[in-house]
Amino acid sequence: MNNLNSPFLPDMVNIWQQTMNWTPTVHQQELFQKLYELILSGNSQQNLTRITEPQEFWEKHLWDSLRGIAFLLSGQAQENTGDTEELTPSSVLISNLQSPIQNPKSKIQNPKFPTFIDIGTGAGFPGIPIAITVAHGTVTLLDSTRKKIAFLDRVKDELHLTNIKTVTGRAEEISHQIQHRQCYDVALIRAVGTASVCAEYTLPLLKQGGLAVIYRGNWMEDEAKSLKNAVQQLGGTIESVEEFTTPLTHSIRHCLYLRKVATTPSQFPRAVGVPTQKPL
Ligand code: SAM
Repeated sequence: MNNLNSPFLPDMVNIWQQTMNWTPTVHQQELFQKLYELILSGNSQQNLTRITEPQEFWEKHLWDSLRGIAFLLSGQAQENTGDTEELTPSSVLISNLQSPIQNPKSKIQNPKFPTFIDIGTGAGFPGIPIAITVAHGTVTLLDSTRKKIAFLDRVKDELHLTNIKTVTGRAEEISHQIQHRQCYDVALIRAVGTASVCAEYTLPLLKQGGLAVIYRGNWMEDEAKSLKNAVQQLGGTIESVEEFTTPLTHSIRHCLYLRKVATTPSQFPRAVGVPTQKPL
């Protein structure tokens, strides 16, 4: 089975409805499918992702990417096509609703045209699924690897995603540039470093009141202490930590939400490599 459309995509739509109170349009489903195909073909030229099996791709790359911003999607009116009406709700998935979405749209202050940045986006996650889904927002994809950004430029063109911008560079340097510092409503980061490192990469890029979303697998309470210390130095607070279960493999995952409440001191982020070598 190498096609996201068939035979299980209807079930996936159902899962989105049940877990996020959101339904992708047919156009969005087509874009997810094309994205999957582009990733598979890109993978034959460079090492983009190990996640290539369709259900795993759906859960770990598509569903997980959107789970971090479910507070924005929940209840969003869809220009729907009716093709989801015949679906039967899955009791298994309903019982999996471990983490109701809290603090809906208040999480960001300008939800009409939000600006996102995805730091260390790699093959485009979580940024591309978010660009497909939040078409009224703009998503900047940042990665230090030029080859990955070249691939993402191709994806952007092939999918006609005019709301995507790409930037090659290190978060430690980009964050000091006037065109990026304090410019974003939401900073996303997945699988790039420890929570404290992620805080140092994300908070300087946020506008006052902006939100950092740190995607995590495990989250230990003892990490909270060092994160709290880091976040305080960077002008932020830990707003919430959401634990949830993924819908297919029932894995535990976390999203940490940090709020920017004060200007980040100009020495942050520190020079390239320092945040990882000497976490705050
Ligand atoms: N976020 C993607 C995901 O979850 O599938 C990719 C994660 S991959 C493990 C980490 C990515 O972060 C790599 O593509 C790497 O080039 C990038 N990266 C690591 N440190 C970075 C930094 N300081 N600035 C920008 N990109 C960075």
